[in-house]
Amino acid sequence: MMRIGIGYDSHRFAEGRRLIIGGVEIPFDKGLLGHSDADVLCHAIIDAVIGAIGLGDIGKLFPDTEPEWKDAVSVELLKYIVDLARMNGYAITWIDSTIITERPKLAPYIEEMKAALARTGIPLGLINIKAKTNEGMGFIGRGEGISVQAVCLLSRI
Ligand code: MG
Repeated sequence: MMRIGIGYDSHRFAEGRRLIIGGVEIPFDKGLLGHSDADVLCHAIIDAVIGAIGLGDIGKLFPDTEPEWKDAVSVELLKYIVDLARMNGYAITWIDSTIITERPKLAPYIEEMKAALARTGIPLGLINIKAKTNEGMGFIGRGEGISVQAVCLLSRI
């Protein structure tokens, strides 16, 4: 039996923050604002996996009102969710994702992100990451933040 989940996340750029995407620190003049490290790619993938398991959403499992998750390393949260899928009898079969931002250019970091995400237990060959701009439109076009869409396919172990 297969299960599919969809995930979406967005974070606003802020001065004085590190830019962490997919577990990789990317050199840029701004970072993303958030209670955790604001790793927008990890958060979208986490929501896709949680959605496929059927356990609600990231806010239910890791409330941003909890001091425990302050400055949390999101790849570690993803590892927790990957383990949770396995404990619920599911193996990750495929993850696809799209990062949408005007800047910085992310293509040079995609392989490094895949390797970082693979350290959570998702096999390296089962993760795809795409990056694109929003053609100058909307909040992304104005450079106010980054959004990510992700899907996850699970199969029964
Ligand atoms: Mg988030």
